[in-house]
Amino acid sequence: MFENKKILILGMARSGYEAAKLLIKKGNEVVLNDLKEEQDEEKVKELKDLGVKLILGNHPDDLLDNTFDYLIKNPGVPIDHKYVLKARELGIEVINEVEMAYRLLPKDVTLIAITGTNGKTTTTTLIYEMIKAFGKKVHLTGNIGYPLCSFLDKIEPNDIIVMETSCQQLENLQEFNPNIAVMTNLSEAHIDFLKSYDNYKRVKAKIFQNQTKDDIAILNIENDDVVEVTKNIKSTIKYFSSKNIINGCYIKDNAIYYYDEKIIDLSDIKLVGMHNYENIMASILAVKEVGVSNESIVSVLQSFSGVEHRLEFVKEIKGRLFYNDSKATNIKSTQIALSSFNKPTILLLGGMERGQDFNLLKDYISHVKLIVCFGENKKRVKEFGDSLMIETIVKDNLHDAVFTAYEKSHQGDIILLSPASASWDQYKCFEDRGMEYKECINELGGNENENN
Ligand code: ADP
Repeated sequence: MFENKKILILGMARSGYEAAKLLIKKGNEVVLNDLKEEQDEEKVKELKDLGVKLILGNHPDDLLDNTFDYLIKNPGVPIDHKYVLKARELGIEVINEVEMAYRLLPKDVTLIAITGTNGKTTTTTLIYEMIKAFGKKVHLTGNIGYPLCSFLDKIEPNDIIVMETSCQQLENLQEFNPNIAVMTNLSEAHIDFLKSYDNYKRVKAKIFQNQTKDDIAILNIENDDVVEVTKNIKSTIKYFSSKNIINGCYIKDNAIYYYDEKIIDLSDIKLVGMHNYENIMASILAVKEVGVSNESIVSVLQSFSGVEHRLEFVKEIKGRLFYNDSKATNIKSTQIALSSFNKPTILLLGGMERGQDFNLLKDYISHVKLIVCFGENKKRVKEFGDSLMIETIVKDNLHDAVFTAYEKSHQGDIILLSPASASWDQYKCFEDRGMEYKECINELGGNENENN
């Protein structure tokens, strides 16, 4: 498969680059086309030296003809791109990098794929860490980590692959069939690419389309849309629930249970928040299928402090617990973060002005004793805090906000950066904002871990 063929790769990015390298080494004729002229020079040179024909800067009308066997499109390329439409007309198969890599996998690997609207990265990471802790050979791939085709040559029979899959990646799949597929939840977000929520749900459900009863689907039973889109799947279903005691994974007496077996008390889990308990339950169901022991599951849950910038526990300094939720670039994420605590909290709020309605935080904020605001929308945050009679201090930047929060804090307080705003008024990206937050915390407390 994929040998001595003529293949057009549409879109360079990381997956296009990796696919081109793999396909040329397998003896195919490879043409790579991207609208963007400026590309990483080293990568361009490497591909040219390998024999890939690069056409950058435009999409020539006559590029695609019936001499091609496949069109491999970058997941981000729209499904109505002119080459995609023309390929269909000419009977050329259109697939993406995930489908291509899947077809090249050794047959006896176990593939675990994770999708959903929220919690994908956290669940993917937890599953990977638990399997690793158990000592099985596991690879982290997909939207997180590296494209699958970049390390196909390192994958051996019986390895486990854990793959975060976005809806862009699911759109063009045909044979792709994970042995274990997880759907964390579905809600009306990020649907721009797929135009309508109905279409978005349809595409997400494709993760199960080739599953049979020998394959496992792990589903959130409390999410009506998840239950609805999976009602006709042929997979063996395992459910988790954060609300009810069910035949599956659930919470009872402040502990997580897998069927009748108690796995761990919530108080022993380092991650916080009901949303994270859901991610944990999905992960437990997945890793139990590949034989991971309770001991390995528990050891990860006791030590894993969160994926960076997603309600990540940073440090304790003199009894104050610092959390970094810089990824919270909208109100909904900050609501989730605030719901995860019931101790006195100092909230660092603000960033780029997008006219967001801070009043939507009102029902989540009863334990917030102080707001320290910064960034472009700080005046509006101040008005919001004042309207609720919560002390609100305005600072020019995150650094001053962190120091003020610390000065005003007491032992036992949570200090939480969950800005409900994009970072682009002062930073390149939310990761930079989160990194700076962590540097400020280190400045406050030195580099050693102080626990009292
Ligand atoms: P994704 O990869 O799907 O974007 P992440 O694991 O990176 O998800 O989490 C991003 C944010 O999504 C978190 O900071 C949190 O606000 C929210 N989130 C995470 N898990 C869940 C969940 N199970 N349900 C609802 N929201 C969640």
